[in-house]
Amino acid sequence: MKKRAVYPGSFDPFTNGHLDILKRALKVFDEVIILVAVQPDKASLFNNDEKVAMIEQSIKGIEGVKVDFSSGLTIDYALKNDAIAIIRGLRAATDFEYEFRMAAGNRYVDTQIDMVFFMADAKYSFVSSSLIKELYSHGVDISALVPKPVKQAFDEKIKKRD
Ligand code: ADP
Repeated sequence: MKKRAVYPGSFDPFTNGHLDILKRALKVFDEVIILVAVQPDKASLFNNDEKVAMIEQSIKGIEGVKVDFSSGLTIDYALKNDAIAIIRGLRAATDFEYEFRMAAGNRYVDTQIDMVFFMADAKYSFVSSSLIKELYSHGVDISALVPKPVKQAFDEKIKKRD
C-alpha cells in the first residue's frame, strides 16, 4: 500500500520553505496531500481558491502531490483519506512549543496517525508567510523566497487594487 501523508498549513502564501519541506517529504512518502486549512476567523491575504491555484502552479511537474482544502480537523482528514502521517516543518524552538501541543492534541483524537517533522533548511529557516507579506508590502523583491506563481499572484493582487 502506498504511504500517504497530509501536509497541512495556512499557506498564505506558499513559500520556498513549504516547497522544500514538500520535496523532502516526497522522499519518505509515496504521496503527499497539501491541505489548505480553511480558517474563517483568521484574516488572510489570499482566499482558498487562490491558495489552491498558486500551490498547484508551484508544484507543476512534481509527482505524487495533490492539493485540497478542509475546514475540519487535519487528523480527521488524514484518517478519511488513508494517510499514515501528518507532516509539519520546524524552524525554531518557538515552532516546537506549538507543534508539540498540536501533536499531543492529535494523539488524543487518534493514535494511528503520526506527526512527522522536517527541520527547515538553513536557507529558509527565516522564511514565513507573514514575513513574505511584510517584505512585499514594503517593496522588497521576494522572488528568491517564493515560487514564481506566488510572486505573480502577489503582483496580480496589487494590480487589481490599483
Ligand atoms: P500554519 O498556520 O498551520 O502554521 P503555515 O503555512 O504557516 O501554516 O505553515 C505550515 C507548516 O510549514 C508549518 O508546520 C510550518 O512550521 C512549516 N513551515 C513554514 N515555513 C517554513 C519554512 N520556511 N521552512 C520549513 N517549514 C516551514
